[in-house]
Amino acid sequence: MPVVHEFVSLLHHPNAVSIHVCPVCSAYRKKGQWIYSKNQTVSVNDIVLAVAKENIKLESFAENSSIELEVEHYGHSIYPVHIHAEAIVSGKPVVYDGLLQVQIHFETCGVCNRIAGGYYEAIIQLRGDSRIPTETEVRECSKTIQKLLERINRQGDRLALITRTEKLKEGTNFYIASNKAAKNACRKLVIVYAATLTESNKLVGRKDGRDVYRMTYALRLPRFKEGDIIKCNGSYLNVTRIGKNITAVDLLSDISVTLHKEQMKQAKKIAGADDAKTAILISSDKTSVQIMDPDTYKTITMRKPAFISDDRREVKIIKINDEILIVK
Ligand SMILES: [Zn+2]
Repeated sequence: MPVVHEFVSLLHHPNAVSIHVCPVCSAYRKKGQWIYSKNQTVSVNDIVLAVAKENIKLESFAENSSIELEVEHYGHSIYPVHIHAEAIVSGKPVVYDGLLQVQIHFETCGVCNRIAGGYYEAIIQLRGDSRIPTETEVRECSKTIQKLLERINRQGDRLALITRTEKLKEGTNFYIASNKAAKNACRKLVIVYAATLTESNKLVGRKDGRDVYRMTYALRLPRFKEGDIIKCNGSYLNVTRIGKNITAVDLLSDISVTLHKEQMKQAKKIAGADDAKTAILISSDKTSVQIMDPDTYKTITMRKPAFISDDRREVKIIKINDEILIVK
């Protein structure tokens, strides 16, 4: 007598399963826990398939099994999943066809709820050292923060984002949903912009028996920018690099100088890189250059700075009172 394989059930599954899906980010809830997909473009169909797979238990005696699932969609939230399975049991082929109904309840997840509510754990305050950050600096910094947070977000911290930006007279505040991400981003910003960072915290309440703090990261952009012309102890300096210290070229002697923060206290900005004008370089020899004053069209002979190469056709100049300085 052959074994009646038709009556062997290859697999077990409930007839219906109901799940909660976040309509904003497509996370789904499993045993009270929200499951977030790393893939941000996951579809409801994908979730239904994943849930169906989790609920189908294949018998251990089935060999060489294959399971095919096909999702249908009725109305708003009913997703019947057709199951077709084939396997070998005791050397005979066995087929299974069944239906698993997945019902979806749409519910905004905890993370999306917090984001929508403007939740934040930290504020990054973008400021300048004795100055206000320029529009361009704010734009650039904001882009850098976004990029850094996006990277952290992709690594799994879903609160790594700006929930609010606030423009103030003295600078811009970025409200960040994740403190860990804000801290991480600030460490990088300090390096990128040669900025200084001060951290402070404020007790905002208690959660699960622990104190909850809100962090503030004050990020101060350096007082001077690369390209600035500054006056320091009677010398005119062209700032070439900003890091822990400032490197500059003395425009009257060509000597490269390094200044510590303390020495910068008396320094004053004379002009920015954008204030420099272009002047035609008429001729040059080893020690001098003839340039045409762009305002008066007069030819002026000047000492040739070491940073001006022989093949130059024009130079950048800055006028301070009656004095003309060639800048780098
Ligand atoms: Zn969500």
